[in-house]
Amino acid sequence: MTQPAVLILLGPPGAGKGTQARMLEEDFGLVQLSTGDLLRAAVAAGTEAGKKAKAVMEAGALVSDEIVLAILKDRMAEPDVAKGIILDGFPRTDGQAAALDGLLAQAGQRVNAAISMDVDDEAMVGRVSGRYTCAGCGEGYHDEFKQPDKAGACDKCGGTVFKRRADDNAETVRERLKAYHAQTAPLITYYEAKGVLQRVDGMASIPAIRSALADIVGKITA
Ligand code: ADP
Ligand code: ADP
Ligand code: ZN
Repeated sequence: MTQPAVLILLGPPGAGKGTQARMLEEDFGLVQLSTGDLLRAAVAAGTEAGKKAKAVMEAGALVSDEIVLAILKDRMAEPDVAKGIILDGFPRTDGQAAALDGLLAQAGQRVNAAISMDVDDEAMVGRVSGRYTCAGCGEGYHDEFKQPDKAGACDKCGGTVFKRRADDNAETVRERLKAYHAQTAPLITYYEAKGVLQRVDGMASIPAIRSALADIVGKITA
């Protein structure tokens, strides 16, 4: 294809967006753009945007479109996105979806596929509560579902320091699920109407989803 691919992973917290986005980077050389990661970096750096976002994220609500769009635009101006992108956790509102269409149109691009990871809400509480990541390389793990091959050491980088997110507790996850259903799930219909919606069974195993996504993405990047 002449233009870099633009893929969206849609799904509630815990659906597996981050896990699969990293695998799509490996499998297809695409670049993961996670607005959650970008916002957490802004919070850690103490930027103005980060200061505004912090309390909203801790409460499990959505950060304003204005802040998220500013952060995403900056990231999309970096040269590596020319390889094609996987948007993980963005767009999350009608306004963000419309802004993305506008941004892509300026570059002669469009969304190639919005992939809905269909999951069972109750299972997401367990997935998110058991989530942790390697502090060195960001590889994601789970207390029960994805343990490192060697206990206490990261499979990817050998690091031994792991971290958990402040918002990954059962109470906040329920707020995030509410926000997902109220503000983000309607985007499934939006992308369906554009003819770019694809669905995968997000309750399947990590390797089974990887292979389902490879089928979809392989056709787009061919
Ligand atoms: P999201 O980015 O959509 O919030 P993650 O990719 O971070 O979700 O996955 C949430 C947690 O569930 C992580 O701990 C991850 O290791 C685990 N996980 C991801 N996909 C699956 C799956 N298909 N089955 C079981 N656990 C999974
Ligand atoms: P998850 O995939 O587990 O839901 P994320 O890392 O994508 O988590 O998001 C964590 C938090 O960051 C969200 O609960 C929200 O407060 C904020 N956030 C991330 N992306 C967006 C976005 N596109 N719009 C608004 N808020 C966002
Ligand atoms: Zn690591």
